[in-house]
Amino acid sequence: MGRRLTRSVRLITGLILALLATGCGGGDSGGSSGAAPLACGPYPSQADSPHVLPYDVGAAYTVSQGNCTNFSHKTGSGDQYAYDFRMPIGTPIVASRAGRVSRITTRYEDGTGVPGEENVVGITHDDGSVALYFHITKDGALVTLGQDVRFGDVIALSGNSGNSTEPHLHYIVVAPPGSPPPGNLPVTFSNTRPHSNGLVQGQSYLALPYD
Ligand SMILES: [Zn+2]
Repeated sequence: MGRRLTRSVRLITGLILALLATGCGGGDSGGSSGAAPLACGPYPSQADSPHVLPYDVGAAYTVSQGNCTNFSHKTGSGDQYAYDFRMPIGTPIVASRAGRVSRITTRYEDGTGVPGEENVVGITHDDGSVALYFHITKDGALVTLGQDVRFGDVIALSGNSGNSTEPHLHYIVVAPPGSPPPGNLPVTFSNTRPHSNGLVQGQSYLALPYD
């Protein structure tokens, strides 16, 4: 009886966690493999990470959906290693890594909930990987195509465009062309507290000053 009760509690807890997760799709989602669940990670060393959190130093935001969830960041999918950061519309988004602006969509209204209407800024890094910053507010891109940016530069204002249930940033780094599936990369950030297995859903992360 005790075991059955424990199992019920686990099932209910899992259901609640799934319901709490933010609804969002990046718009670049790859297909789900349909195979048995794959492992999440391994994650690159935080100390060597070329990425900083995609918001201003001194700010802290909660990860409303982490990696490898049973929601829209499914294991084996093209959004496996996406992070959702819950933040109000108009929050400054900074480049998490230096690169060149390679993609801008900014014409869609916030709050339509329509898949495919995600505003986005993309930045290509020198190793060919691309960071994508989704759900940007209408006309919220603060950079132009081809512009070089440094990490920490403000590039956009967050929003709630496209397939999204609340204002947030959907952040993902896509592997260079020719890389094996699923095509998106596990990311750690150098300027916040330790997270050796990636940022944890439900936790808030303060962006610390850069070295
Ligand atoms: Zn997301």
